[in-house]
Amino acid sequence: MGCQSRDALTADLSFPPVPFSSLPDAAFMLEILKLLRWQDMLDILVVAFIIYQLILIIKGTRSVQMILGLVVLSAGYFMSVALDMAALQWLLNTFLGSLLLIVVIVFQHDIRRALTQVGKSPFQKNRDMAEKELDEIVRAVFYLSKRRIGALIVLERESGLRDFVESGSDLDARLSKELLISIFMPVSPLHDGGVIIQKGRIQTAGCILPLTKNPYIDKRFGTRHRAAIGLSEETDAVIIVVSEETQEVSLVQHGALTRMTDEMTLTKGLHAIFIVKDQQAQSWKSWVGRS
Ligand code: ATP
Ligand code: MG
Repeated sequence: MGCQSRDALTADLSFPPVPFSSLPDAAFMLEILKLLRWQDMLDILVVAFIIYQLILIIKGTRSVQMILGLVVLSAGYFMSVALDMAALQWLLNTFLGSLLLIVVIVFQHDIRRALTQVGKSPFQKNRDMAEKELDEIVRAVFYLSKRRIGALIVLERESGLRDFVESGSDLDARLSKELLISIFMPVSPLHDGGVIIQKGRIQTAGCILPLTKNPYIDKRFGTRHRAAIGLSEETDAVIIVVSEETQEVSLVQHGALTRMTDEMTLTKGLHAIFIVKDQQAQSWKSWVGRS
């Protein structure tokens, strides 16, 4: 009966009628559904969730083009098999044989970012950065910008920055506007490189950060901005850059750079990341605690 109605449907549309044998039988589909255990449903949901998260992670990055490239090569391989083109088949077979290695090398930043996110707890909080500390940073940043002094300030979040902390000079000092300004003064021996702020304290200065390899970055950005973008691609850190050339202040996160026109905009941006999320985590935790 179900097949009859399907035939009627295809007849209504202007498609050529689909042969009866190629339509899945409703009873057969029902049998398959009956065979599904709750574990299979869970399995499908988990895999769908992982694929969705992977898409979110690579969305808007150059990995999308690379995946398209791999899809085209795989399609080429299947075509060479179908048409029995031995030489092309051998070439693509050799290349795709090392696919796992290629994927790991090409997507190393995305894999690192994905694993960092998997390790994140919903209860982890940014309480280490209080409004007062953020205010000191904002005021230091615009003081430096007005005087054309370049700066690179990294605010640690959940991803550990130990590798980068170790590349600088250890300070472990209380965060203050004055200290931040002094560090970036051109006469200071610590002014080159980035300052890393961990748990509301200035942990290190003069840190070397990884430069982005993204070829689409605006050519006018030099190494300071590229280092900020590079670190934000590998970790969830939030980075503030002050340009000594243009005096522009930028907030960098997840590989994207946003211009901060004034103190208010930067304060709002930082509060949205550190204060609001913290309050959400707190209320979520207290809600779980109650139930
Ligand atoms: P600006 O707009 O301030 O000129 P920029 O993006 O054009 O910045 P450069 O002019 O190349 O960048 O800035 C050079 C400074 O950037 C160096 O003096 C150093 O302090 C910092 N810098 C360069 N490379 C790195 C790095 N890998 N890690 C941290 N800091 C770096
Ligand atoms: Mg420059």
